[in-house]
Amino acid sequence: MKKCNYCKTEKPALKRPKTGKLCCKNCFIKYFEEEIHETIINYKFFTQGETVAIGISGGKDSTVLAHVINKLNISKNYGLNIKLIAIDEGIQGYRDGSIETIEKNAKLLNLPLIILSFKDLFGLTMDEIVPKCGIENSCTYCGVFRRQALDKGAEMVKATKLITGHNADDIAETVLMNFLRGDFNRLPISVEPIGGGDIPRVKPFKYTYEKEIVMYARFCKLEYFCAECTYAVGAYRGNVRSLIKDLELDRTQSLIDIIHSGEFFKIEENVKQRDCLKCENCGHVCSNKKCKACILLEKLNKENNINKPIGNEIKYNNEENPE
Ligand code: SF4
Ligand code: ZN
Repeated sequence: MKKCNYCKTEKPALKRPKTGKLCCKNCFIKYFEEEIHETIINYKFFTQGETVAIGISGGKDSTVLAHVINKLNISKNYGLNIKLIAIDEGIQGYRDGSIETIEKNAKLLNLPLIILSFKDLFGLTMDEIVPKCGIENSCTYCGVFRRQALDKGAEMVKATKLITGHNADDIAETVLMNFLRGDFNRLPISVEPIGGGDIPRVKPFKYTYEKEIVMYARFCKLEYFCAECTYAVGAYRGNVRSLIKDLELDRTQSLIDIIHSGEFFKIEENVKQRDCLKCENCGHVCSNKKCKACILLEKLNKENNINKPIGNEIKYNNEENPE
């Protein structure tokens, strides 16, 4: 009978998508966590006593992320002060369900949670934005606003790092998308484990396969929200994902190879880099006079003849914690 390639005694429960090795349940959980710990240590993500924020959406990635970071924080003695931040985009039938799951997990992990809504921050829910911007642009608006909302949340809880659940599949897709669009400026940034900005974003799942995240959630019986957003139509990312899945059929290494290829791209020193400025409207870090969220909000206002600026009263600098 075949045995687990790690402990050599137990019956294998799976063939690891990442390594192709046979693995029993206990060894899988152990090595899955150890590899994430290695990424955290190799990239020196945290310092003792640091306050960190985990962006949690209720989906598999961020649910497993919160669970593993909390577990490693205790077992490896990171000394982190962990806060959870959830963003309510205002998508009925989708986000309301996941908020319930987030609250349950926060309680289970005994971690403080803050929930920020698009309505409060930007004056509109996604359900109100989509008829104005068109469903084909919904993910652009949602992505820009969510990114800024997470920064806002991290700032509110005085976090010095924002931990996100981007996994190896997401990163490989982003590398390939940037490559296909010829966006070479973004290529090196997409593989960086620590992103820029006022509050750096760190990605402990940089080398973690999505399939293994699902396995881990199943083995640990974690509860996560699994539904597709009604506005997720025809995203370019979906095509790139299928392309990578096809490549993986022939070669499981394809995913990591794409990430490594991205890591080899370096922008020459004489190439002009994006500026790091503050938005003149809201103070958020950006590369132009105004940040993307403010530009999109203005566009919504203009196209819909709204005279009163929506959401622009949000200030990102020196603001008191409203809690
Ligand atoms: Fe937002 Fe698009 Fe994701 Fe829906 S699919 S939550 S609109 S980014
Ligand atoms: Zn702005």
